Amino acid sequence: MTTSNDGGGDVRLTGISKTYGSFTAVHPLDLTVPQGSFFALLGASGCGKTTTLRMIAGLEEPSGGSVHLGDQEVTHLPPYKRPVNTVFQSYALFPHLDIFENVAFGLRRRGIKSVKKQVESMLELVQLGEQARKKPHQLSGGQQQRVAVARALINHPKVLLLDEPLGALDLKLRRQMQLELKRIQTEVGITFVHVTHDQEEAMTMADTVAVMNAGRVEQLGSPSDLYENPTTTFVANFLGTSNLIEAEVDTRSGEDIVLRAGGGKLVLPGSRCSAPTTAGGKVLVGVRPEKISLAHADEAGAVPEGRNRITGRIADSSFIGVSTQYVIDSPVCPEFEVYAQNIDRDARLVPGAEVVLHWNPAHTFGLDAAQAID
Ligand code: ATP
Repeated sequence: MTTSNDGGGDVRLTGISKTYGSFTAVHPLDLTVPQGSFFALLGASGCGKTTTLRMIAGLEEPSGGSVHLGDQEVTHLPPYKRPVNTVFQSYALFPHLDIFENVAFGLRRRGIKSVKKQVESMLELVQLGEQARKKPHQLSGGQQQRVAVARALINHPKVLLLDEPLGALDLKLRRQMQLELKRIQTEVGITFVHVTHDQEEAMTMADTVAVMNAGRVEQLGSPSDLYENPTTTFVANFLGTSNLIEAEVDTRSGEDIVLRAGGGKLVLPGSRCSAPTTAGGKVLVGVRPEKISLAHADEAGAVPEGRNRITGRIADSSFIGVSTQYVIDSPVCPEFEVYAQNIDRDARLVPGAEVVLHWNPAHTFGLDAAQAID
């Protein structure tokens, strides 16, 4: 079933901000969410993501800026006059009504008499056709959340806002519901704006993720962009594990930047560096743990040419099923440890062993070393 969508599902925030007394919860923010996309606002507790969502919903009056839905400015419209609906973590179902009537509620309130077909098709969309006559307490948490989604979609909003909708579910159910919500969004084709503090959830579901920190969007991009090419230390560390090595710009070689780290050199593609690259400048060179290969120092000669390499000593290793995770001390990153995964178990790669870490320079990113390390 497809919800009719005649345009107007773009969300455009222009200089939107929110202050509470002298405290700024959201700094002036410009953001466009294209119609039909699954967009996630991701960040730690208190970063301003819920406040941003509530300003789109009309549940919070902005202190400045404007909100447009499609061509319509809605900044000062009450929630019920906006073509949006919100799903909350708490489900907020009516306990005395059965599932059918919970979903029918929005239609009946608008005076629509013949609701059967629409409700049934909505229940089918969320795969609860069999549960129509049950009461909310007879359903699992995941099923109740799907009722909440069906109820929010029944009036064909142009934008569905989801405020930590999976927060109350256990991990397994959460993962199932992530896929389920993604399927529903693809099927109805409307804009979803989803607030979460869970990076895996945002990465699994969203086409575009805005990473928020202290009331600002730090970086906006596709999940793979953000993971492969973070531009701040906050994003690099919030989305997975990053190894950060302090290095100094040496020269440029075509598109590449050559850096000095300890006694050696590292190569970084210019397009993946968000730091100034004047000679002598400091850059934090980052590489994700699973991109690194590990060789015993005796076999350093067998490491192919053209790889970035650093030396170190294994401090610790732990077998974690699909891979072995190594903690490595290295002179070039005295303040950090380096984790390397996906290495075949090798009897010689034990704590104390001298090793060479090496990786394809294409997997290297560069951050401004002047930033605080989060
Ligand atoms: P969480 O995941 O914990 O809900 P969040 O990122 O959604 O966090 P917000 O709820 O948007 O954060 O809150 C942002 C900041 O604004 C927080 O520091 C919060 O304490 C503050 N805040 C939110 N609502 C109010 C209010 N009504 N009065 C004062 N401060 C508020």
